[in-house]
Amino acid sequence: MATRPRVLLDVDGPIADFMTPALDAIHRVTGRRFKAEEHTSGWDLFAGLGLSSDEIDAVLLSMQTPGLCLGIPTVDGAREGVEELRSFADVWAVTSPFGGEHWMHERDAWLVKHMGFKKKDVLHVRAESKHGVFGDILVEDKIDTLQSWRMAWPDSHPVLFELSYNSNHGWDGLSVSGWGALVLKARALLT
Ligand SMILES: [Mg+2]
Repeated sequence: MATRPRVLLDVDGPIADFMTPALDAIHRVTGRRFKAEEHTSGWDLFAGLGLSSDEIDAVLLSMQTPGLCLGIPTVDGAREGVEELRSFADVWAVTSPFGGEHWMHERDAWLVKHMGFKKKDVLHVRAESKHGVFGDILVEDKIDTLQSWRMAWPDSHPVLFELSYNSNHGWDGLSVSGWGALVLKARALLT
């Protein structure tokens, strides 16, 4: 069997704009309206924006509702970029479930509908366990996950997908600022 290189894609951040429904939920629960670019203090949106632990619990609960995951907007360029990656690599989604009764099957359906995935290529893996999944490239917005994955697969290529909250948080490896750059980088590494 011929083997193709494998690209692992984190979903929330690189291809799904989780921040939009999260900021809406924060507004609904707390009355405070934040903008995406105000989230600059590390991966954890809720702590980064200074919510109290009671507020975080209430926001998280309010987001465990049918249709929320299914309605998350796509990130600009992701649909076309995923298709370009597929021209030279197998592409697997590796996504950490947010929680609630609806998330995982809605995430499957979202990835099938918006990104052309087959369900067999969608792995629901908690962030703490993503280092157990082999690929030639991992694209992620969470630096902790990139670091543990790099330890596990030192010959592979962890790539930070840069967003407002992770660009200056101590990642010294490869990074890309959007889908155009990501496809170029992956093609250069794998072909
Ligand atoms: Mg993510």
